[in-house]
Amino acid sequence: MKLTQENYFSPEADREYLSVSQYKKFVGTMGRVGCEAEAMACLNGEWAMKKTTSLLVGSYVDAHFEGTLDLFKAQNPDIFTKQGTLKAEYRRAEEVINRIERDDYFMLHMQGEKQVIMTGELFGAEWKIKMDSYFPDTLIVDLKCMKSLREANWVKDSGYMNFITYWGYDLQGAIYQKIVEINTGKKLPVKIAAASKEEYPDIAVIQVEQSLMDAALAEVESNVPKILALKNGEIEPLRCEMCDYCKHTRVLTHSIWTEDLLGEV
Ligand SMILES: [Zn+2]
Repeated sequence: MKLTQENYFSPEADREYLSVSQYKKFVGTMGRVGCEAEAMACLNGEWAMKKTTSLLVGSYVDAHFEGTLDLFKAQNPDIFTKQGTLKAEYRRAEEVINRIERDDYFMLHMQGEKQVIMTGELFGAEWKIKMDSYFPDTLIVDLKCMKSLREANWVKDSGYMNFITYWGYDLQGAIYQKIVEINTGKKLPVKIAAASKEEYPDIAVIQVEQSLMDAALAEVESNVPKILALKNGEIEPLRCEMCDYCKHTRVLTHSIWTEDLLGEV
């Protein structure tokens, strides 16, 4: 199928193409455990991931810089109160936008081509990507709206991590860089233009080290065969037993011990 802005996020497109967000649903990141059962249920149309407020605030900011905020507001009436004013979280999003627009260097990075879609074959899978701000032959920029930019996230056995590695944005950069290279022959640097949702929004333009993206890409390569086998129905998906989907579909067959409640913490 030919991908457009309208069908990019459709279940059909997700079944035909692999994407970074779909990959993360299957495999997870340091910050979130993946769940094969949930990912497959999404693809089969049996389950939809909840649109969290945090996610919607990010989409609100994205939509502003994409020039599609009016459409976004029309499609998400829940962001308004009964009185028709923006809910507090989205007023905060407005403040984030204002903060970003006050910074020339940040804004320079938002001047690329918006929401550029590309596809390409990598590791035996057909991938789709959609770039926030793309400067052909020069640079790939992704816009991120985070709780905090400087917060250290604790990961067992690995220690503290910044938000980029914690949420797999290095992996996203690696895939975007590779698919662009497959399409254009040019290997471009990747930057994350990030803002926080704090009372005084923090801002930064962060270039992702090539070494991080190389390591992330190697990890993707090792995981893609299993994802393809799952999508083709060749193997049964594993349940994580922690996500909303697993909780919703859990069938009890026996009792557990108190010590089982915390699992491997
Ligand atoms: Zn699960």
